[in-house]
Amino acid sequence: MKTVTLRNGVTVPALGMGTWNIGDSASRRSSEIKSLRKGLEAGLRVIDTAEMYGDGRSEDLVGEAISDVREDVYLVSKIVPSNASYDGVYKACQRSLEHLETEWLDLYLLHWHGGTPLEETVQAFEDLKDEGLIRGWGVSNFDVEDMEEIESLSENCLVNQILYNLEHRGTEFDLLDHDLKSGTVTMAYSPLGQGGELLEHPALKELASRHETSLGPADPAQIALAWVLRRPNVLAIPKAASEKHVAGNLASLEISLTDADLKTLDSAFPSPKRKLSLAMI
Ligand code: NDP
Repeated sequence: MKTVTLRNGVTVPALGMGTWNIGDSASRRSSEIKSLRKGLEAGLRVIDTAEMYGDGRSEDLVGEAISDVREDVYLVSKIVPSNASYDGVYKACQRSLEHLETEWLDLYLLHWHGGTPLEETVQAFEDLKDEGLIRGWGVSNFDVEDMEEIESLSENCLVNQILYNLEHRGTEFDLLDHDLKSGTVTMAYSPLGQGGELLEHPALKELASRHETSLGPADPAQIALAWVLRRPNVLAIPKAASEKHVAGNLASLEISLTDADLKTLDSAFPSPKRKLSLAMI
């Protein structure tokens, strides 16, 4: 499986699992847990959640899904900026650990840049790390200027989690290269365009018809994911609430897009020629 190596030396698979909107419905709970288990059994060790998702319901479900395999999981959660003061970080981290029923997070991310000075949040992250409550930290929705600020404060920011898919290529102008050069792994969120219009696009349908996986003919979601995963230094975290979708996402790792495929996608979804403000959801 394609992997990425974080600057602390930890190597993880480049395909993980997102969990936004998971845990919100009692009727979907069992299928959502089975999907996460299926992904874990297949080696998708990285699970991304956040205190904000369903006010802790996503963390609750993830905690339940991984309780007997915690050591095998690379567990990521995120703190909202309104909790990012020194004391707020400690309290939020404790709450997340309780929801997740675990003693540590592998990675703790600042969900976006808010009003608290970054120095204060970084100090809290470093202290949590020293105490073993988290094993690493990073940021999310940070553009180049934000990354330069965090890099001026610490060399320990492991990840920048950002929106990246065929419909949102703005970061190709500068941020993706910046993070690659500085050694910060890019975690691509919403790589499937949230399962919306992107997956209906004729260019994706056409390319899907040109590729096969071990499951049979490829589909647009697999092409969209293979496209995100083509870049080095990028870890994609699609959310899938059914075992079928998890299997499909795994099979996207079998697809190598050709130069001709990439040209087709560049025509349908042009890369930006100028700096755009960072898109986020
Ligand atoms: P995604 O791009 O991952 O799309 C999820 C949608 O795609 C769901 O409707 C899902 O359906 C569908 N899907 C999944 N697999 C397939 C497949 N193989 N074929 C067809 N459809 C499929 O959107 P998200 O916004 O959920 O992003 C992924 C994760 O990124 C989030 O869950 C969250 O963890 C993180 N995130 C982080 C943000 C941040 O600010 N840091 C912001 C947004 C997301 P189904 O559920 O039925 O399987």
